[in-house]
Amino acid sequence: MRALLDLVLPARCAGCGDPAGPGCPGCLRALSGPARWTRPDPCPAGLPPVATVAAYGGPVRGLLIGYKEHGVSGLARPLGGALARSLLLARGPGAGAVVVVPVPSSGRQCRRRGADVVVEIAARAVRELRALGHRVQLVRALRHVRAVADSAGLGAHARVANVVGALAVRRGAGPLVAGRTVVLVDDLVTTGVSLAESARVLRAASATVLAAATIAATTRRAHAPGVAAAGLGSPAAQQRGWGLRC
Ligand SMILES: [Zn+2]
Repeated sequence: MRALLDLVLPARCAGCGDPAGPGCPGCLRALSGPARWTRPDPCPAGLPPVATVAAYGGPVRGLLIGYKEHGVSGLARPLGGALARSLLLARGPGAGAVVVVPVPSSGRQCRRRGADVVVEIAARAVRELRALGHRVQLVRALRHVRAVADSAGLGAHARVANVVGALAVRRGAGPLVAGRTVVLVDDLVTTGVSLAESARVLRAASATVLAAATIAATTRRAHAPGVAAAGLGSPAAQQRGWGLRC
């Protein structure tokens, strides 16, 4: 259906509305940078190191919403490519075989979008890395066990309460993650509470959660030397290890 819609609808850029869509060169440039480490502020307990590519906002927000909410399938490739670069940083050199576990979308999101679009992007990124010889395997290990509210209007404490206990390991997926090295993936990191809860559930299932990989990170105030206002740790800060762990 998405491919059909792409054929019949004018391909405006989801980032800026330019006729050179679905992602114009200028907007796609925002997704083409190198992966970097980021950290939400405040940082939830248990959050693994988080890699990302872009600051969330402007064209990046438009491109992500275009793919997730409007089914613009032509954006799958650049979004998958960005997530693949983020995954490579999160995985690190010499990590060996890694299991890639997407943070599950809620049932309501899946019904509205017709699919778990984060899984779709993750699958694309994993295919790209496997084609390059990397030992990565996608496992949809997590599922929602109760409904969660839309976190957009919630405060920090309510966001945590919203997700704690909401996830579990899927039936039959335990042996696929137990004793394995896992990298979590999500399209976007905001407060980090969903990634932290996903990590907690996987650790309880005897997985080693190495890091998380995202396409974009929400902006936050700079509050430490060497930290860019975009919310991404500077190279110097990263070399000191700042921002990698809570
Ligand atoms: Zn554009």
